[in-house]
Amino acid sequence: MNANGSFIGLQAPCGQIVDGENYEDHDDEVVVTRETFYACGCRSIQHEYHDGAVSRRIVRHDGHVLIDELLSAE
Ligand SMILES: [Zn+2]
Repeated sequence: MNANGSFIGLQAPCGQIVDGENYEDHDDEVVVTRETFYACGCRSIQHEYHDGAVSRRIVRHDGHVLIDELLSAE
């Protein structure tokens, strides 16, 4: 199952206002994967796991990792 869509004029992690695309994917190992790709090259990847934990990784267009975290269910 996929729920994909493009967007226009959102603020990327680097601060620029750009267009981009969202991807959402569901599978057995990782419950939900949400990815956002910005036109400037920034991207954001979020995984939701069965136990309710969420991992989030935001990478700027130059490859610099801005956020890389795992939030537990509690
Ligand atoms: Zn950027």
